[in-house]
Amino acid sequence: MSKKPFVTKEQIEKIVESFPTPFHIYDEKGIRENARALKEAFSWNKGFKEYFAVKATPNPYLIDILREVGCGCDCSSLTELMLSEAMGVCGEDIMFSSNETPAVEYEYANKLGAIINLDDITHIEFLENIVGKLPETMSCRYNPGGVFKISNSIMDNPGDAKYGMTTEQLFDAYRIMKEKGVKNFGIHSFLASNTVTNDYYPALARQLFELAVELKEKTGAHITFINLSGGVGVPYKPDQSGNDIYAIGEGVRKAYEEVLVPAEMGDVAIYTELGRFMMAPYGHLITTVIHEKHTHKEYIGCDACAVNLMRPAMYGAYHHITVLGKEEEPCDHIYDVVGSLCENNDKFAIDRNLPKIDKGDILVIHDTGAHGFAMGYNYNGKLKSAELLLKENGDVQLIRRAETPKDYFATFDGLDFYEKLKFEN
Ligand SMILES: *Cc1c(COP(=O)(O)O)cnc(C)c1O
Repeated sequence: MSKKPFVTKEQIEKIVESFPTPFHIYDEKGIRENARALKEAFSWNKGFKEYFAVKATPNPYLIDILREVGCGCDCSSLTELMLSEAMGVCGEDIMFSSNETPAVEYEYANKLGAIINLDDITHIEFLENIVGKLPETMSCRYNPGGVFKISNSIMDNPGDAKYGMTTEQLFDAYRIMKEKGVKNFGIHSFLASNTVTNDYYPALARQLFELAVELKEKTGAHITFINLSGGVGVPYKPDQSGNDIYAIGEGVRKAYEEVLVPAEMGDVAIYTELGRFMMAPYGHLITTVIHEKHTHKEYIGCDACAVNLMRPAMYGAYHHITVLGKEEEPCDHIYDVVGSLCENNDKFAIDRNLPKIDKGDILVIHDTGAHGFAMGYNYNGKLKSAELLLKENGDVQLIRRAETPKDYFATFDGLDFYEKLKFEN
């Protein structure tokens, strides 16, 4: 399989006349079609809703596209809640799945009428002390511990994860909240990240459905939704095949009919909190090659760096690279493709087979639409890039301007040196 960019060399050459590299660009058509497919795949479930994980791509223009397809917002912090409110998303269209939550955030989430998903049993009292009476609908995050397996392969290691309540705590939490007047309950669990198998959601769903039946029997709680959270992944590598969302929806439906329906729980809504699956393939980081260096290895230096895309530095993550205009050339050179941070992990690719690269070439770094721009930081005084939207009609819209040095210095209140610099502002 080959990975093709959603933009051509000609398109990018035109775009860079107005917007210099580096920048992230997003594909409206791809985002829309994928979101519609997800909705259709779960249309068998009356209450189905995707709460887009805002942290993955916190840009209101992009979230608006998902809103049009019916998605809500999954928030985990104060500013994500603010972004949602500013976009007119409130009430039960917000899922607040936070952890180690400051009091002010619970207070605000409650004011917005968001569904609050508690990460820990001690947060019942913490929340009660802030908001007085608990909301009528509450959710708890569940962590069964151990490893999460499908058949015999280990998918991830929830026992090492800081999130969620143990099984025993979950039962206690439901009992306590029920006594305190909570009427509707949800279960949330996120047990494996970036899965590229159609079996993850169905396996997770079955486990949560069985748990829900037991919770209902033992605590009498009225369970209204089960939140499968994130974790459905994307094929970052060209030899991986992607998830089939229809097969995933069908797998969850089967578990639902086998476990929930016989327990007279056929009205439970399925929620998801996907981030990566909704956006990653529909974003590219576009960067220009500005240097080449031949020392102990062959280096290609570009104008983007790890502050624009942290995943390779942070996780050793693979992101595919296309050299625009050289798609058909043989990949007979081996390069480290690097950014300009004073950090040796600032490498978008290590020992990557690519066509011969020349200064001035434009690179497409694939699958940066989620956890890309969003994870950016300002190390080495680097500035965050612009974000552009390639609209369905082919127009390009600036949906976030690039940071400027003035933004970078803006938090030194009272030090107004900026206007006096020799650098031409
Ligand atoms: C990060 C996160 C998500 C989204 O995860 P993806 O891997 O992007 O699908 C959803 N829910 C919670 C609580 C998260 O922390």
